[in-house]
Parts: sequence; C-alpha cells; structure tokens
Amino acid sequence: MAIGIKHGSEKYRKKISVVIPVYNEQDNIMPLVKGLHTVLETQPHDYEIIFVDDGSIDRTYEVLRSAQAQVQNLTIIRLKTNFGQTSAFSAGFSYATGDYIISMDGDLQNDSQDIPNLLEAIEGKYDAICGWRKHRQDAASKRFLSKVFNIIRYLIFRDPVHDVSCSLKIFRSAAIKSLLPLRSRNHNCLTSILHLRGYTVGEIVVTHRPRIHGKTKYRNPFRIFRVFWMLLCLRFWWYYTHRPQQGNTLDYSQIREIVEP
Ligand code: UDP
Ligand code: MG
Repeated sequence: MAIGIKHGSEKYRKKISVVIPVYNEQDNIMPLVKGLHTVLETQPHDYEIIFVDDGSIDRTYEVLRSAQAQVQNLTIIRLKTNFGQTSAFSAGFSYATGDYIISMDGDLQNDSQDIPNLLEAIEGKYDAICGWRKHRQDAASKRFLSKVFNIIRYLIFRDPVHDVSCSLKIFRSAAIKSLLPLRSRNHNCLTSILHLRGYTVGEIVVTHRPRIHGKTKYRNPFRIFRVFWMLLCLRFWWYYTHRPQQGNTLDYSQIREIVEP
C-alpha cells in the first residue's frame, strides 16, 4: 500500500484545479477566463477554475458572475474583505478537488498557454513545478528586488529554482494540501517549503507579460524586509522542529511511500 504521493504510470484521466486570487482585476477576468477555457478544453483531463475574490471593491465580483454564466466549472470564493494573496491562495487550495492544483495570477501577466507544459513537466517525476519568468516584464526595480530575494532565498533553502515568487506553479494535490493553512505571506515560497519537507521540486521557463489593465498591488519596496523576515522564521522554525531531540514525532505527510513485501 502506498501512502501519500505515488509516482509511476499516470495514464488515467486526472482532474486539474486552477486557483486564481483576484483583487480589483475587473478588466482582466474575461480575457483570462476565455484563455483558460480554450487551453483546458484541449486537455484530456477534467478541470475546475476557482477564482478567489479577495475583497475586491471594483466590479470584479460582478464580472466573475457573468463569466460563471458563460463557462462551466467556474467557482467563485468571495472573501469578506481583503485578506491578502496568501489567504486567498489558502482558501482556493483548500476548496480545490483536483489531482493537480495550478496557481496563477489574475492580471494576465501569466499565460494560460503554459499549462500543458506544466502538466507535462510534473507527470511522473515531481511533486511541484515552479514557473521561471526568465524574461520578466516588470519594472527594473521590481526585477532587481526579486533577484536579491531569490539569491537570499536560495542561500537559506538551497531549493533548485530561480524564481520562487512566480505565481504560475503546479502541485500535486497532496503536496500543497500538506501546507494548509498558508500563513504570513508564505505564498511567495511554497516550493521552498515543499523542498525542505522532502518533496521533489522542478521548474520550467514560462511566459511573462506586462500588466495592461489595473495596477500592481505590491508597490512598497520595503515589503522585501518583511518577506526576508518570513524566510528566516520559516528556516529556523524548520530547523528547531524537525530534529529527533526536539521531540518530533512521525507525520504521515513525510512519507513518500511504503513498499510492502
Ligand atoms: N492579489 C490578491 N490580493 C491582494 C493582492 C493581490 O488577490 O491583496 C492578486 C492580484 O489581483 C493578482 C495577483 O494577486 O491576481 C498578483 O498581484 P499583482 O499583479 O499586483 O502582483 P505583481 O505581479 O505586481 O507582483
Ligand atoms: Mg502582476
């Protein structure tokens, strides 16, 4: 009997959940839904699209309701107020019922056309694949801060990816669900935490496009200090809670499989 994640032959039909947090993205919803629908319909899998409306104060919710009337399998989770992207992802991941869970931004900067590549990359080999925005279309200051963040993150976690804050990722359901509920802005480094916990993490280069409609929600450059603090806390939390002398007990999410005679 295998516990947790079982690799190997995966020819049978799967279900894919796409989770998208949105905060004031009214003009991006319709083109995004159209693009997603086109790509997902070409896949041999069942799918669901889950939008998490993170307390939007523009027409995002109304546009989501009209999108829901036009395509199948679109769920809207509407949060009571703006809790932030980490909480929005957490709500979406908890609700998702797919074998694979894809996360992406709702501002059209990620490209739905990358989904087949993510699916191909994860099958058989990995527990999670992180997108790498090799040609990132954001302001130079943002790209610079992200580079610094990724270097420090690599020094702390030693995880094999370039761009951990790229939202476009795919996870095996059991892997991402083992991290729920997500806490304090850690949506930025989900694959780093999975790597620490022994899950296999890979990456592929993905398309990144400039934001055309709406504004970035992350304009404060000092945010990076809070993110570094979160990285350090995570690292020390892991270091002090996962050693035998600290009284750690076996947790089934740590086991990849048990091969019985
Ligand atoms: N977002 C959210 N809640 C927030 C901030 C952002 O759901 O409090 C969503 C936002 O609508 C978008 C994604 O998270 O779909 C990424 O945000 P943004 O594009 O502003 O980040 P950037 O690409 O500038 O880093
Ligand atoms: Mg963006």
